Amino acid sequence: MKKGILIIGAGGVSRVATVKCAMNIDTFEKITLASRTLRKCEMIQKEIKEAQNVDIDVACVDADDVPALIKLIKKVNPKQVLNVALPYQDLTIMDACTACGVDYIDTANYEHPNEAKFEYKEQWAKDAQFKEANVNALLGSGFDPGVTGVFCAYAAKHYFDEIHTIDIMDCNDGDHGYAFATNFNPEINLREVSANGRYWQRNEKGEGEWIETKPLEVKMDWDYPQVGVKPSYLLYHEELESLSKNIKGIQRIRFFMTFGDSYIQHMNCLQNVGMLGIEPVMHQGQEIIPIEFLATLLPDPASLGPRTVGKTNIGCVFEGIKDGVKKKIYIYNVCDHQECYKETGGQAVSFTTGVPAMIGAKLLYNGTWSAKGVYNIEEFDPDPFMEEMMNQGLPWNIQEMD
Ligand code: NDP
Repeated sequence: MKKGILIIGAGGVSRVATVKCAMNIDTFEKITLASRTLRKCEMIQKEIKEAQNVDIDVACVDADDVPALIKLIKKVNPKQVLNVALPYQDLTIMDACTACGVDYIDTANYEHPNEAKFEYKEQWAKDAQFKEANVNALLGSGFDPGVTGVFCAYAAKHYFDEIHTIDIMDCNDGDHGYAFATNFNPEINLREVSANGRYWQRNEKGEGEWIETKPLEVKMDWDYPQVGVKPSYLLYHEELESLSKNIKGIQRIRFFMTFGDSYIQHMNCLQNVGMLGIEPVMHQGQEIIPIEFLATLLPDPASLGPRTVGKTNIGCVFEGIKDGVKKKIYIYNVCDHQECYKETGGQAVSFTTGVPAMIGAKLLYNGTWSAKGVYNIEEFDPDPFMEEMMNQGLPWNIQEMD
């Protein structure tokens, strides 16, 4: 009989998700952690044994290799696979899951390795494949995407007859003491931030359209509770694609993220000298990809935990109608980097992704959420997820606004 969870990837997000799964071992029964570098799995295994006296298994796998994944999944025989490797591996892991008849969960949508482009198209196209295999794919169970989609579903269910606008506001006010570092995988992070911005709105004819902006062109100051006023920049973010389809009555949805001056200066400079390039260049007779080389030079995000202080605040501002009256609310979560580190060994950006990854996996594992096929997180009942957040270290607040 299938039993347990197989977690793939052993970076910053995985550390938190694996620690949290171990804290919920009554649900998950058995945990196997597999990644490209076995040593990183063994480090997490050791820390969990020391801190919680929970035993987990480890394995080595190349998640770009479908036959290797199938071999591992058949050997471990889990009920579900949690993908916290990189977005490049989404499709291969999904294919291996349907081949073995196990559920799939991830935190980021598929990204083309050779093109700075991420979208749900290829993952949504696997819906029939998942239905045929009688298994579920839960897409985007991190924070954004993830909790932001749950906040949207919760607001739609309890606070509005129709939501008209959504602004997702993501603030990381953490300070790691480095002049420049990224809080999650540098390649994924820099590709996202240096790309053109984009948001979705309905035009006068009622048709949805994407409005494109230059990188970091649109800026607004936003007062984040428990953090303060921070400049926030409009970015394209993947959940805009699914939420613009799944939230009834929506007229406009945008995503904003805070960046400090030092981050922006460094990023612009790296962009200007070509260090963010994803095309191979020749260097002393050898092909290198500039952004991959840069990722090698930058601090490993998993190592930022002990030195990062400050808070994150991520949430959604909703405007719409309830019982014919206009309404505006803000749902958000605040996390403290050091508290996250003390509990899980990860800073708040890894924590706010790894905890929802575990919660999504838990709700599928215990059958609270069940739907065969490929689904985004906002398509499930938000209530049990919101309840778990309160119990698993991600308390949320709701503020009624004018
Ligand atoms: P890291 O780079 O820290 O970790 C990625 C891990 O995946 C590493 O252990 C790496 O192995 C492993 N890996 C990479 N390629 C392969 C492969 N081919 N086979 C097996 N393992 C592989 O990333 P993060 O932990 O920061 O991010 C993990 C995921 O979470 C990413 O998809 C990211 O986009 C997503 N994310 C989602 C957020 C959200 O809110 N939804 C926010 C932040 C991140 P190795 O150690 O050998 O390099």
